[in-house]
Amino acid sequence: MADSKTETKTLGESLRQQGVSRRGFLKFCTATASMMALPPAMVPAIAEALEKARRPSVIWLSFQECTGCTESLTRAHAPTIENLIFNHISLDYHHTLQAAAGEGAEAAREAAMHENHGKYIVVVDGSIPLKDPGFSTIAGISNLDMLKETVAGAAAVIAVGSCAAFGGLPHASPNPTGAVSVSEIIKDKPVVNVSGCPPIPTVITGVLAHFLTFGGLPELDDLGRPKVFYGQSIHDRCYRRPFYDKGLFAETFDDEGARKGWCLYRMGCKGPMTYNACATTKWNQGTSWPVESGHGCLGCSEPDFWDGGGFYNAISIPDGDIARNIGLGAVAGVAVGAAAGMLNRNAKADAVSRHETVTVDDLEKTS
Ligand code: SF4
Ligand code: SF4
Repeated sequence: MADSKTETKTLGESLRQQGVSRRGFLKFCTATASMMALPPAMVPAIAEALEKARRPSVIWLSFQECTGCTESLTRAHAPTIENLIFNHISLDYHHTLQAAAGEGAEAAREAAMHENHGKYIVVVDGSIPLKDPGFSTIAGISNLDMLKETVAGAAAVIAVGSCAAFGGLPHASPNPTGAVSVSEIIKDKPVVNVSGCPPIPTVITGVLAHFLTFGGLPELDDLGRPKVFYGQSIHDRCYRRPFYDKGLFAETFDDEGARKGWCLYRMGCKGPMTYNACATTKWNQGTSWPVESGHGCLGCSEPDFWDGGGFYNAISIPDGDIARNIGLGAVAGVAVGAAAGMLNRNAKADAVSRHETVTVDDLEKTS
Protein backbone atom coordinates (compact mmCIF):
# COMPACT_ATOMS: atom_id res chain seq x y z
CA MET A 1 0.00 0.00 0.00
CA ALA A 2 1.01 3.64 -0.32
CA ASP A 3 4.07 4.77 1.61
CA SER A 4 3.69 8.46 2.33
CA LYS A 5 7.46 8.92 2.75
CA THR A 6 8.09 7.91 -0.85
CA GLU A 7 4.97 9.51 -2.25
CA THR A 8 6.85 12.21 -4.16
CA LYS A 9 9.79 10.08 -5.28
CA THR A 10 10.36 9.38 -8.94
CA LEU A 11 10.77 5.81 -10.13
CA GLY A 12 14.52 6.43 -10.61
CA GLU A 13 14.87 7.64 -7.01
CA SER A 14 12.75 4.78 -5.73
CA LEU A 15 14.90 2.17 -7.51
CA ARG A 16 18.15 3.74 -6.25
CA GLN A 17 16.69 3.62 -2.73
CA GLN A 18 16.20 -0.12 -3.28
CA GLY A 19 19.89 -0.49 -4.16
CA VAL A 20 19.63 -0.54 -7.94
CA SER A 21 22.69 1.20 -9.47
CA ARG A 22 22.67 3.43 -12.56
CA ARG A 23 23.87 0.52 -14.67
CA GLY A 24 21.24 -1.69 -13.07
CA PHE A 25 18.65 1.01 -13.82
CA LEU A 26 19.57 0.92 -17.53
CA LYS A 27 19.26 -2.87 -17.45
CA PHE A 28 15.86 -2.35 -15.81
CA CYS A 29 14.90 -0.01 -18.68
CA THR A 30 16.02 -2.63 -21.21
CA ALA A 31 13.89 -5.23 -19.43
CA THR A 32 10.97 -2.79 -19.31
CA ALA A 33 11.34 -2.17 -23.06
CA SER A 34 11.34 -5.90 -23.57
CA MET A 35 8.30 -6.25 -21.31
CA MET A 36 6.48 -3.65 -23.41
CA ALA A 37 7.88 -5.30 -26.56
CA LEU A 38 9.61 -2.12 -27.70
CA PRO A 39 12.86 -2.11 -29.72
CA PRO A 40 16.21 -1.61 -27.91
CA ALA A 41 16.55 1.79 -29.66
CA MET A 42 13.78 3.02 -27.34
CA VAL A 43 15.78 2.32 -24.17
CA PRO A 44 17.33 5.84 -23.76
CA ALA A 45 13.90 7.47 -24.14
CA ILE A 46 12.41 4.98 -21.69
CA ALA A 47 15.25 5.64 -19.23
CA GLU A 48 14.63 9.37 -19.40
CA ALA A 49 10.87 8.96 -18.93
CA LEU A 50 11.13 6.40 -16.11
CA GLU A 51 13.80 8.46 -14.31
CA LYS A 52 11.20 11.22 -13.95
CA ALA A 53 8.07 9.07 -13.56
CA ARG A 54 6.14 9.86 -10.38
CA ARG A 55 4.03 7.37 -8.48
CA PRO A 56 0.56 7.12 -9.93
CA SER A 57 -2.35 6.61 -7.55
CA VAL A 58 -4.11 3.29 -8.21
CA ILE A 59 -7.54 2.33 -6.88
CA TRP A 60 -8.16 -1.42 -7.25
CA LEU A 61 -11.80 -2.54 -7.17
CA SER A 62 -12.70 -6.22 -6.74
CA PHE A 63 -16.22 -7.26 -7.73
CA GLN A 64 -17.50 -10.76 -8.68
CA GLU A 65 -14.11 -12.51 -8.69
CA CYS A 66 -12.09 -15.24 -6.98
CA THR A 67 -9.00 -13.16 -6.00
CA GLY A 68 -6.94 -15.21 -8.47
CA CYS A 69 -5.89 -12.06 -10.35
CA THR A 70 -4.43 -10.49 -7.21
CA GLU A 71 -2.82 -13.81 -6.27
CA SER A 72 -1.26 -13.98 -9.72
CA LEU A 73 0.32 -10.57 -9.28
CA THR A 74 1.47 -10.84 -5.68
CA ARG A 75 2.53 -14.47 -5.21
CA ALA A 76 5.94 -14.17 -6.84
CA HIS A 77 8.60 -16.23 -5.07
CA ALA A 78 11.47 -13.88 -5.82
CA PRO A 79 11.85 -10.15 -6.49
CA THR A 80 11.11 -9.41 -10.13
CA ILE A 81 10.86 -6.47 -12.46
CA GLU A 82 7.10 -6.81 -11.99
CA ASN A 83 7.52 -6.33 -8.25
CA LEU A 84 9.65 -3.23 -8.73
CA ILE A 85 7.02 -1.59 -10.90
CA PHE A 86 4.13 -2.75 -8.72
CA ASN A 87 5.93 -1.45 -5.62
CA HIS A 88 6.34 1.92 -7.27
CA ILE A 89 2.64 2.62 -7.71
CA SER A 90 0.65 4.15 -4.88
CA LEU A 91 -1.93 1.44 -4.27
CA ASP A 92 -4.41 3.53 -2.33
CA TYR A 93 -7.29 1.03 -2.15
CA HIS A 94 -7.37 -2.75 -2.51
CA HIS A 95 -9.72 -4.95 -0.43
CA THR A 96 -7.35 -7.88 -0.17
CA LEU A 97 -4.10 -6.02 0.44
CA GLN A 98 -5.11 -2.94 2.44
CA ALA A 99 -4.81 -2.82 6.22
CA ALA A 100 -7.76 -0.48 6.64
CA ALA A 101 -11.31 -1.82 6.81
CA GLY A 102 -14.86 -0.47 6.84
CA GLU A 103 -15.20 3.32 6.98
CA GLY A 104 -11.42 3.80 7.02
CA ALA A 105 -11.04 1.90 3.75
CA GLU A 106 -13.81 3.85 2.04
CA ALA A 107 -12.31 7.12 3.33
CA ALA A 108 -8.98 6.12 1.69
CA ARG A 109 -10.74 5.52 -1.64
CA GLU A 110 -12.52 8.85 -1.49
CA ALA A 111 -9.32 10.68 -0.49
CA ALA A 112 -7.38 9.14 -3.39
CA MET A 113 -10.15 10.11 -5.82
CA HIS A 114 -10.27 13.67 -4.50
CA GLU A 115 -6.50 14.28 -4.28
CA ASN A 116 -5.66 12.76 -7.67
CA HIS A 117 -8.72 13.78 -9.66
CA GLY A 118 -8.20 13.18 -13.38
CA LYS A 119 -4.86 11.39 -12.84
CA TYR A 120 -5.46 8.14 -10.98
CA ILE A 121 -5.80 4.68 -12.51
CA VAL A 122 -8.66 2.34 -11.63
CA VAL A 123 -7.86 -1.38 -11.80
CA VAL A 124 -10.90 -3.67 -11.74
CA ASP A 125 -11.00 -7.42 -11.29
CA GLY A 126 -14.32 -9.24 -11.37
CA SER A 127 -17.55 -8.75 -13.28
CA ILE A 128 -20.47 -6.49 -12.35
CA PRO A 129 -23.89 -8.02 -11.58
CA LEU A 130 -26.78 -6.12 -13.16
CA LYS A 131 -29.71 -8.41 -12.25
CA ASP A 132 -29.80 -7.37 -8.63
CA PRO A 133 -27.42 -4.84 -7.01
CA GLY A 134 -27.57 -6.93 -3.82
CA PHE A 135 -25.66 -9.79 -5.43
CA SER A 136 -22.35 -8.04 -4.72
CA THR A 137 -21.82 -4.97 -2.56
CA ILE A 138 -18.91 -3.27 -0.80
CA ALA A 139 -19.61 -1.10 2.25
CA GLY A 140 -23.27 -1.22 1.26
CA ILE A 141 -22.50 0.18 -2.20
CA SER A 142 -23.42 -1.90 -5.25
CA ASN A 143 -20.61 -2.85 -7.62
CA LEU A 144 -22.26 -0.84 -10.38
CA ASP A 145 -22.49 2.35 -8.30
CA MET A 146 -18.94 1.96 -6.95
CA LEU A 147 -17.54 1.44 -10.45
CA LYS A 148 -19.30 4.49 -11.89
CA GLU A 149 -18.43 6.69 -8.92
CA THR A 150 -14.75 5.66 -8.83
CA VAL A 151 -14.14 5.82 -12.57
CA ALA A 152 -15.70 9.29 -12.93
CA GLY A 153 -12.45 11.06 -12.02
CA ALA A 154 -9.99 8.47 -13.36
CA ALA A 155 -7.45 8.87 -16.17
CA ALA A 156 -7.87 5.28 -17.35
CA VAL A 157 -9.27 1.90 -16.36
CA ILE A 158 -7.46 -1.43 -16.48
CA ALA A 159 -9.86 -4.41 -16.50
CA VAL A 160 -7.70 -7.20 -15.08
CA GLY A 161 -8.68 -10.81 -15.72
CA SER A 162 -11.31 -12.34 -17.97
CA CYS A 163 -14.17 -11.57 -15.54
CA ALA A 164 -13.58 -7.80 -15.68
CA ALA A 165 -12.62 -7.92 -19.36
CA PHE A 166 -15.40 -10.16 -20.70
CA GLY A 167 -17.64 -11.24 -17.80
CA GLY A 168 -15.68 -14.45 -17.17
CA LEU A 169 -17.03 -17.33 -15.08
CA PRO A 170 -19.94 -15.33 -13.54
CA HIS A 171 -21.06 -14.52 -17.10
CA ALA A 172 -21.06 -18.21 -18.13
CA SER A 173 -24.46 -19.57 -19.16
CA PRO A 174 -27.03 -19.14 -17.60
CA ASN A 175 -25.36 -16.05 -16.11
CA PRO A 176 -27.51 -16.00 -12.95
CA THR A 177 -26.34 -12.58 -11.75
CA GLY A 178 -26.56 -10.78 -15.10
CA ALA A 179 -22.78 -10.32 -14.99
CA VAL A 180 -21.23 -7.86 -17.44
CA SER A 181 -17.71 -6.62 -18.16
CA VAL A 182 -16.28 -3.20 -17.29
CA SER A 183 -16.35 -1.98 -20.89
CA GLU A 184 -20.07 -2.77 -21.15
CA ILE A 185 -20.63 -0.07 -18.53
CA ILE A 186 -17.78 2.41 -18.91
CA LYS A 187 -17.98 4.19 -22.26
CA ASP A 188 -16.38 7.57 -21.56
CA LYS A 189 -12.90 6.54 -20.31
CA PRO A 190 -10.09 4.55 -21.89
CA VAL A 191 -10.44 0.90 -20.83
CA VAL A 192 -7.73 -1.68 -21.45
CA ASN A 193 -8.59 -5.37 -21.09
CA VAL A 194 -5.86 -7.57 -19.58
CA SER A 195 -7.67 -10.86 -20.01
CA GLY A 196 -6.68 -14.27 -18.68
CA CYS A 197 -7.89 -16.53 -15.88
CA PRO A 198 -5.73 -15.38 -14.26
CA PRO A 199 -3.83 -12.84 -16.36
CA ILE A 200 -0.03 -13.06 -16.63
CA PRO A 201 1.63 -10.78 -14.01
CA THR A 202 4.11 -9.49 -16.58
CA VAL A 203 1.24 -8.35 -18.77
CA ILE A 204 -0.46 -6.47 -15.90
CA THR A 205 2.77 -4.68 -15.00
CA GLY A 206 3.64 -4.17 -18.68
CA VAL A 207 0.50 -2.05 -19.02
CA LEU A 208 1.38 -0.16 -15.82
CA ALA A 209 4.93 0.36 -17.13
CA HIS A 210 3.53 1.73 -20.37
CA PHE A 211 1.36 4.18 -18.43
CA LEU A 212 4.32 5.22 -16.28
CA THR A 213 6.57 5.70 -19.30
CA PHE A 214 4.27 7.28 -21.85
CA GLY A 215 1.43 8.61 -19.71
CA GLY A 216 -1.16 6.58 -21.63
CA LEU A 217 -2.29 3.14 -22.65
CA PRO A 218 -0.70 0.90 -25.29
CA GLU A 219 -2.23 0.13 -28.67
CA LEU A 220 -5.20 -2.24 -28.30
CA ASP A 221 -6.73 -5.01 -30.42
CA ASP A 222 -10.42 -5.15 -31.32
CA LEU A 223 -11.18 -6.74 -27.93
CA GLY A 224 -9.44 -3.90 -26.08
CA ARG A 225 -6.29 -5.91 -25.24
CA PRO A 226 -2.71 -4.61 -25.63
CA LYS A 227 -1.47 -5.80 -29.02
CA VAL A 228 2.07 -6.30 -27.77
CA PHE A 229 0.88 -9.15 -25.55
CA TYR A 230 -2.23 -10.39 -27.35
CA GLY A 231 -1.16 -9.74 -30.95
CA GLN A 232 -0.27 -13.35 -31.67
CA SER A 233 -1.96 -16.62 -30.79
CA ILE A 234 -0.63 -19.17 -28.32
CA HIS A 235 -0.40 -21.52 -31.30
CA ASP A 236 1.83 -19.17 -33.30
CA ARG A 237 4.37 -18.97 -30.50
CA CYS A 238 4.10 -22.59 -29.32
CA TYR A 239 7.27 -24.70 -29.37
CA ARG A 240 5.07 -27.77 -30.21
CA ARG A 241 3.97 -26.09 -33.44
CA PRO A 242 6.35 -28.11 -35.70
CA PHE A 243 4.54 -31.30 -34.54
CA TYR A 244 1.19 -29.72 -35.35
CA ASP A 245 2.42 -28.78 -38.81
CA LYS A 246 3.60 -32.37 -39.35
CA GLY A 247 0.30 -33.80 -38.07
CA LEU A 248 1.88 -35.45 -35.02
CA PHE A 249 -0.60 -35.36 -32.13
CA ALA A 250 -0.73 -36.83 -28.63
CA GLU A 251 -4.02 -38.68 -28.17
CA THR A 252 -3.84 -39.26 -24.40
CA PHE A 253 -1.80 -37.84 -21.52
CA ASP A 254 0.41 -40.93 -21.34
CA ASP A 255 0.82 -42.21 -24.89
CA GLU A 256 3.97 -42.21 -26.96
CA GLY A 257 3.06 -38.84 -28.55
CA ALA A 258 2.68 -37.24 -25.11
CA ARG A 259 6.08 -38.60 -24.06
CA LYS A 260 7.65 -37.22 -27.24
CA GLY A 261 6.11 -33.78 -26.72
CA TRP A 262 3.79 -33.84 -29.73
CA CYS A 263 0.99 -31.32 -30.31
CA LEU A 264 -1.92 -31.34 -27.81
CA TYR A 265 -4.62 -30.20 -30.23
CA ARG A 266 -6.54 -33.47 -30.21
CA MET A 267 -6.57 -33.40 -26.42
CA GLY A 268 -8.46 -30.12 -26.55
CA CYS A 269 -5.73 -27.48 -26.82
CA LYS A 270 -7.36 -24.14 -27.72
CA GLY A 271 -4.03 -22.50 -28.58
CA PRO A 272 -4.95 -21.86 -32.24
CA MET A 273 -7.84 -19.58 -31.28
CA THR A 274 -6.37 -18.03 -28.12
CA TYR A 275 -4.40 -14.79 -28.02
CA ASN A 276 -2.05 -14.37 -25.07
CA ALA A 277 1.67 -14.23 -24.29
CA CYS A 278 2.02 -17.44 -22.20
CA ALA A 279 4.30 -19.13 -24.74
CA THR A 280 6.89 -16.35 -24.54
CA THR A 281 6.60 -14.75 -21.08
CA LYS A 282 5.70 -18.09 -19.45
CA TRP A 283 4.58 -18.31 -15.79
CA ASN A 284 6.26 -18.36 -12.37
CA GLN A 285 9.24 -16.21 -13.32
CA GLY A 286 9.55 -17.87 -16.72
CA THR A 287 9.66 -21.42 -15.31
CA SER A 288 7.12 -23.01 -17.64
CA TRP A 289 3.64 -22.66 -19.08
CA PRO A 290 0.66 -25.02 -19.43
CA VAL A 291 1.53 -26.50 -22.83
CA GLU A 292 5.16 -26.99 -21.75
CA SER A 293 3.80 -28.84 -18.70
CA GLY A 294 1.87 -31.22 -20.97
CA HIS A 295 -1.63 -29.70 -20.79
CA GLY A 296 -3.46 -27.96 -23.60
CA CYS A 297 -4.40 -24.28 -23.50
CA LEU A 298 -7.96 -23.75 -22.19
CA GLY A 299 -8.43 -20.47 -24.07
CA CYS A 300 -8.75 -18.49 -20.83
CA SER A 301 -7.97 -15.08 -22.36
CA GLU A 302 -10.84 -15.25 -24.86
CA PRO A 303 -14.48 -14.16 -24.33
CA ASP A 304 -16.86 -16.91 -23.18
CA PHE A 305 -14.20 -19.59 -22.92
CA TRP A 306 -16.24 -21.29 -20.17
CA ASP A 307 -19.06 -21.85 -22.67
CA GLY A 308 -16.82 -23.18 -25.45
CA GLY A 309 -17.43 -26.86 -24.68
CA GLY A 310 -15.26 -29.47 -22.97
CA PHE A 311 -11.72 -28.44 -22.18
CA TYR A 312 -10.51 -31.84 -23.42
CA ASN A 313 -12.70 -31.99 -26.49
CA ALA A 314 -10.84 -31.07 -29.67
CA ILE A 315 -13.99 -30.45 -31.67
CA SER A 316 -15.73 -28.24 -29.11
CA ILE A 317 -14.21 -25.14 -30.59
CA PRO A 318 -15.69 -21.87 -29.31
CA ASP A 319 -17.62 -20.35 -32.20
CA GLY A 320 -18.83 -16.82 -32.93
CA ASP A 321 -16.26 -14.53 -31.35
CA ILE A 322 -13.43 -16.93 -31.98
CA ALA A 323 -14.29 -17.26 -35.65
CA ARG A 324 -14.41 -13.47 -35.88
CA ASN A 325 -11.05 -13.16 -34.16
CA ILE A 326 -9.29 -15.29 -36.67
CA GLY A 327 -11.17 -13.89 -39.62
CA LEU A 328 -12.93 -17.08 -40.56
CA GLY A 329 -16.60 -17.96 -40.94
CA ALA A 330 -17.58 -21.54 -40.23
CA VAL A 331 -14.54 -23.50 -39.16
CA ALA A 332 -13.84 -26.85 -37.53
CA GLY A 333 -11.16 -29.43 -36.98
CA VAL A 334 -7.43 -29.23 -37.53
CA ALA A 335 -7.86 -26.99 -40.55
CA VAL A 336 -8.98 -24.23 -38.18
CA GLY A 337 -5.62 -24.08 -36.51
CA ALA A 338 -3.66 -24.16 -39.74
CA ALA A 339 -5.72 -21.43 -41.37
CA ALA A 340 -5.80 -19.29 -38.26
CA GLY A 341 -2.08 -19.66 -37.77
CA MET A 342 -1.35 -18.64 -41.34
CA LEU A 343 -3.68 -15.64 -41.20
CA ASN A 344 -2.31 -14.62 -37.87
CA ARG A 345 1.31 -14.88 -38.91
CA ASN A 346 0.66 -12.75 -41.96
CA ALA A 347 -1.46 -10.15 -40.22
CA LYS A 348 0.65 -9.88 -37.09
CA ALA A 349 4.10 -10.20 -38.56
CA ASP A 350 5.25 -7.16 -36.65
CA ALA A 351 3.73 -8.25 -33.34
CA VAL A 352 6.20 -8.92 -30.72
CA SER A 353 8.00 -12.00 -29.56
CA ARG A 354 10.82 -10.35 -27.63
CA HIS A 355 9.37 -10.76 -24.16
CA GLU A 356 11.88 -12.11 -21.72
CA THR A 357 12.00 -12.66 -17.99
CA VAL A 358 14.53 -10.65 -15.99
CA THR A 359 14.93 -10.82 -12.24
CA VAL A 360 16.34 -8.33 -9.81
CA ASP A 361 19.38 -10.59 -9.55
CA ASP A 362 19.92 -10.08 -13.28
CA LEU A 363 19.92 -6.33 -12.74
CA GLU A 364 22.67 -6.51 -10.19
CA LYS A 365 24.81 -9.01 -12.06
CA THR A 366 25.79 -6.29 -14.48
CA SER A 367 26.33 -3.58 -11.86
S1 SF4 B 1 -2.51 -26.85 -30.85
FE1 SF4 B 1 -1.73 -26.31 -28.80
S2 SF4 B 1 0.00 -27.74 -28.36
FE2 SF4 B 1 -0.46 -27.82 -30.59
S3 SF4 B 1 0.97 -26.34 -31.50
FE3 SF4 B 1 -0.97 -25.24 -31.15
S4 SF4 B 1 -0.76 -24.30 -29.12
FE4 SF4 B 1 0.87 -25.86 -29.29
S1 SF4 C 1 -1.98 -21.41 -21.87
FE1 SF4 C 1 -4.07 -20.76 -22.48
S2 SF4 C 1 -5.45 -21.36 -20.75
FE2 SF4 C 1 -3.31 -21.47 -20.02
S3 SF4 C 1 -2.99 -19.46 -19.04
FE3 SF4 C 1 -2.24 -19.29 -21.19
S4 SF4 C 1 -4.04 -18.50 -22.38
FE4 SF4 C 1 -4.81 -19.25 -20.37
